[in-house]
Amino acid sequence: MDIPRIFTISESAHRIHNPFSAEKLATLGAVLRLEPDMRLLDLGSGSGEMLCTWARDHAITGTGIDKSPLFTAQARARAEELGVARRVSFIHGDATGHVAPEKVDIAACIGATWIGGGAAGTLALLARSLVPGGMILIGEPFWRQLPPSDEVARHCLAGAIADFLPLPDLITVFGDRGYDVVEMVLADQDSWDRYEAAKWLTMRRWLDANPDDAFAGEVRQLLNTEPRRHAAYTRDYLGWGVFALLAR
Ligand code: SAH
Repeated sequence: MDIPRIFTISESAHRIHNPFSAEKLATLGAVLRLEPDMRLLDLGSGSGEMLCTWARDHAITGTGIDKSPLFTAQARARAEELGVARRVSFIHGDATGHVAPEKVDIAACIGATWIGGGAAGTLALLARSLVPGGMILIGEPFWRQLPPSDEVARHCLAGAIADFLPLPDLITVFGDRGYDVVEMVLADQDSWDRYEAAKWLTMRRWLDANPDDAFAGEVRQLLNTEPRRHAAYTRDYLGWGVFALLAR
């Protein structure tokens, strides 16, 4: 079981597979008023940076599930490196429909809400793993400014304008689903660069090392076009954030 190969090439050096900097991830951990031994579940945990750094900084415990063997291995290595391997564990697997065997205090899905078939389905899925009064963390894109056309939206990792909402409307949707939005930390253009621009050097290094790989043509094409695409579209139009929700 694995994710498409382009991600394991372009994001192989990322610790955070989202438009968040280490500082923003730390800010999120600091504002949630985490307490020692709180239990977290993270669906689509990537390379495990959230659970590992929060275990180090706030003594939480947690489990992450991710479909990528590479990212899962990186998460386990990071836990060892930060000395938190007894607090966090990482499972390689499909998180679709996953409910924690033991209920958790915080259930998260950060930038992987297709796991629950969209934001609404992911909220319902995460809720099934939560203790009463537990918190949901959900990472979602939104429009910083509405694109003028569906074509521009398609350059912003969307299929159409209708795929994402402006920030106020996204917050309204969480309310309509019965949740208070109790915190949020948003990406900015610089943290978008940490996600997007960090792929470019990784792709270039990979191309230099693997010129004859069958995938090299595709990676070369992306490296030719991605910096301009990001500068012209994602950077201006696309927002992203993590929202902390408590059921009303
Ligand atoms: N939350 C992490 C990773 C976000 S990227 C972070 O912020 O760094 C999206 C992640 O979802 C990738 O690591 C990918 O491997 C994982 N993923 C995609 N489909 C999945 C599925 N069905 N089950 C579990 N993980 C999945």
